[in-house]
Formats: sequence, C-alpha cells, structure tokens
Amino acid sequence: MNNTLIAVVFFLFFVACEQTSSNKTYPLHLSDAIMGTRYTIKVTSIPSAINKAELSTQIRNLLSKIDKKMSTYRQDSELSQFNKSQSIAWQSISPSLFVVLSEAKKIHQLTQGAFDITVGGLVNLWGFGSDPMTQIAVEDSEIDVALNSVGSNFLQLDKNNQKIKKDIPDLYLDLSAIAKGYAVDLVGELLEAHEIVDYMVEIGGELRLRGGNANNQSWRIAIEKPTAEARMIQKVLPLSNISLATSGDYRNYFEVDGVRFSHSIDPRTGKPITHKLASVTILSDTTIVADALATALMVLGSDEGYKLAERENIAALFIIKVTEGFVEKATPAFEKKLKRDNAMNKIRHGY
Ligand code: ADP
Ligand code: MG
Repeated sequence: MNNTLIAVVFFLFFVACEQTSSNKTYPLHLSDAIMGTRYTIKVTSIPSAINKAELSTQIRNLLSKIDKKMSTYRQDSELSQFNKSQSIAWQSISPSLFVVLSEAKKIHQLTQGAFDITVGGLVNLWGFGSDPMTQIAVEDSEIDVALNSVGSNFLQLDKNNQKIKKDIPDLYLDLSAIAKGYAVDLVGELLEAHEIVDYMVEIGGELRLRGGNANNQSWRIAIEKPTAEARMIQKVLPLSNISLATSGDYRNYFEVDGVRFSHSIDPRTGKPITHKLASVTILSDTTIVADALATALMVLGSDEGYKLAERENIAALFIIKVTEGFVEKATPAFEKKLKRDNAMNKIRHGY
C-alpha cells in the first residue's frame, strides 16, 4: 500500500445510545472514561436503603478492576502479562479473565473463526492497537508473518484448574471486542444485587437494559445512521429487558484512496474488512455475547453474516451501504426478540 497517501483515522465513540427525551433526572447517573471509550449508567429508581456514593464507588472500582485485567492498553494488565510472556506452560489466571476467554472460544466456534481474539498482532500491525501508527504501510509479507500467530486453537483452556496456555510463544490476545460487553453485564449484575430493577448500563455503545426510564417508558435506544460526517439517527428501538451491541465501520477506520479500512480484522485474510456492510446490531440476553457477535458478523459481511445469523438464530440487524443511502436487513430472530421484549414489557409495566 502506498504510504505517501494520507491515512485518516477516526475513533470510536458509540454507535447506539439512549435517547434522552426529557429533562427528567436520574437518582444515579454516572458517566466517565474507561477502556478507551466512555461509559454511562442511569438508574431510574433506587431502594432507599442504598447509599448512592458507596454504590458509585463500587461501580467505578469494578470497572477499573476489569480494565486492569483485560486491557491491552495497560502494560501491567493481567492480559498484557500473558501476552508478553513467552512461556508455553500452563498459567493460572483470574476467574473473570477465564470466563471471558471461555466465551471468546465459544463465539469463535459459533462464527466459524470470524471472531478471534488472537488477531491482536494484526490489530497492532494495522495501527488499531495500543500503539497507534501515524503511517499506514502494511506489506503482504508482514501480514503473513502476523497470520502465523493467529488462531484461537493455539489457546488452551483448562476449566477444572482455571489455567490457560499458549501453544506458540507469540500468541497475542486482544479482548477489545468482548471485554466491554462483559463489563456491562457485571455492572448490571451488581445493580441487580442491590435490588435495582430499572437501569441502563452502556460502555462504548454496548448496552444492557432493565425495566424503564425516567419517563416511565421502556428505554429508547437510538441506532446511529452509519455515517462518519454527522451524527444522525437511523432508527429508535424501545427496549426493556435485553442487551444490545452495535459494531460499525464508520467510527474507527482509516481511508486510503477512498477505500475504508475498518478496525474489524478478518482473521482469514489478515486484513481489515472493506465491504459494504456499515453496521450490525445484535440483541441478546447478555451483553458479552451481543458485543462479540456484532464484531463477528461485521467481519463476515452482509451475505455470509446474515446466513450464519439466520442459521444460528442470532438476532441481528444489518445496515448495508447502497448507492444511495442504506438498507436494513433484520433476521427473523431479531424481529421476534424485539416483539417479545416489547410484549413482556407491556405485561410487566403497562407500556
Ligand atoms: P465494534 O463494536 O465496532 O466491533 P469493538 O471495540 O467492540 O468495536 O471491537 C473492535 C475491536 O476488536 C478492534 O479494535 C480489535 O481490537 C478487535 N478485533 C478486530 N477484529 C476482530 C476479530 N475478528 N475478532 C475479535 N476481535 C477483533
Ligand atoms: Mg463491540
């Protein structure tokens, strides 16, 4: 690739967010930077026995604990220690890291390798990793070298002993497409442990919702129109007891000669995807699954991705670029899950 061309790099903010339609306030409303992005937590009503300041501290501590374990941006994280280690012996890891790695392996299998946390070396090579490049000049030979260290089969998990091992010393894991979803679920579980039933937890556009918002309605989640130029809304989904994640090619990419290279890497080619799929939104019972599946289907593209989603009963909404604008394509499972969530909500809350 010609390195004299200017590469424009855009960064991810979020691709789905809650639409605040009123100025009603939330008794607990937190927002801050984490995991290279931002989080927002809204709690609609809080049991009176709960100390808000204490709960806020618990949430912040939880998020920072996960970040310290799973970030490739921190040299001292548990994940970075494993990545740096050249040992191919079994190593003990924390239970939470084990959970995320197990889920990542499952989704790798389900998506026939499209989701692969061992793409870390390629993510770095293409400048989407912890060491951002200013010039883009990736040679095919470099891709081939990096591809030699890609493959979730090189990562072994021993559930009984909570140990992991790499078969090759250079294996480099990247949890950026799954750790946010995991963190969202854990914050949700923490809130539920305090008997909080109406909340929204969002990290970088990956969301978990329960109950209703301050307007006494289900949550209104806006899916962005997949354009980098301006922030516009494609559609608004009323949601109540579900998780949602969106993967898009329009907030974190670079462009060379009019071709857009997204931060989703196809593990089969070793290259960023360049196809016409603008975004994929997943509805799921857990955010960890929604997060990872969104990236996987983004990698597979609208045809292959849709076929897999249909076959595996995945609730997915594809937004595809066409000559003029975008077209939407939802799997039957998506329509079904949406309807079911809305119907359950009417029964429970009357809205
Ligand atoms: P998006 O929501 O747009 O998918 P995420 O931040 O959730 O964005 O995930 C994208 C990140 O996942 C990339 O920056 C990279 O670190 C990692 N990644 C890229 N390709 C893959 C892949 N095929 N499998 C797993 N992780 C990937
Ligand atoms: Mg994601």
